[in-house]
Amino acid sequence: MKVIVDIFSKHLAMKRLFGVKIYKYPRNLEDVLNMWEICGFNAVYVSYQMDNIAEFISELKRLGITIFLIFPVFQDPDELKKEPSLYSRMKDGREAKEDWVEFACPSNEVFLQRKGLLLERLVETLDIDVISFDFIRYFVFWEVIHPNTSPEDLPETCYCERCRRRFNSAFPNSQLDTPDWAQFKCDTITSGVQYLTKIAKRVKPSIRVSLHTLPWKQSDFNGGIKRIAGQDFTALGKYADFLSPMIYHHMIYKKPEWIPSLLNDIKSVYHGAILPSLQVNHSYRNEELSPNEFEQAIDECLRVPIAGIIFWNNDALLTNKEKQEIVRRKIHEI
Ligand SMILES: [Zn+2]
Repeated sequence: MKVIVDIFSKHLAMKRLFGVKIYKYPRNLEDVLNMWEICGFNAVYVSYQMDNIAEFISELKRLGITIFLIFPVFQDPDELKKEPSLYSRMKDGREAKEDWVEFACPSNEVFLQRKGLLLERLVETLDIDVISFDFIRYFVFWEVIHPNTSPEDLPETCYCERCRRRFNSAFPNSQLDTPDWAQFKCDTITSGVQYLTKIAKRVKPSIRVSLHTLPWKQSDFNGGIKRIAGQDFTALGKYADFLSPMIYHHMIYKKPEWIPSLLNDIKSVYHGAILPSLQVNHSYRNEELSPNEFEQAIDECLRVPIAGIIFWNNDALLTNKEKQEIVRRKIHEI
């Protein structure tokens, strides 16, 4: 095991972070750690909902791996099932849900306080380096939205009574669905990040913050990143140490060459570190993501100054030797 420790330490000295997102405790931990060592990984995004999470994290810390804890915020089907009044609402009053995506209303302080308590407990008990807020936005099932979709066809939220009331008090002479409304939504998400960041830092002052962001340019879907998702990268930059855009290009019918244009678009409004996540296998589509296209996506990503790359996800990489070898080669070339 000492050899592994030395190798991980060497990679930790590198400036950039490379690793995977992992959601379930591995059936064979040794195989996983072996792959990470060969690939040269020094970071991991791990779900707090994983079984044996404390044990898993302490093993990784021993190996010198930087731990990002994935903390979903407004996506919370279990809580919403118990308490449907927490749902975000569409304009016609429907609950904000589609398939597995089910969102709580981001302006609900009681919901946010509960998240804050959970976060406090996790930061107190787990030895993590970075807290990574996932689903830190308004409802949108972006994974299945084709780039040619008309912006008017995308459902918007949240039109619950509380959100309408709050908007009226923040912008007394304004109307719903105006730029003020988009501003109100962005302010709501940013203040949620501010609130949760404060809690995490109160427990552990050295903790850093990462935010999962949508792979949309500022102009996509008629400014959908702010208007629909409520993600204002400039404002969020005050609290985030990393923005982690989910650049699952194949999923949203983009070519690898599109990746630098997205990263540069983010850089035009946000000046902190960007730690993108790339998809390993096809998802939400029948067509395969070929090893060649996967390699191209990594190359395109590395053309822009970024903090590293996180691969989505561990299982996909573990079962594909060819893509593992591509990852290993790319990281060792740097
Ligand atoms: Zn609402």
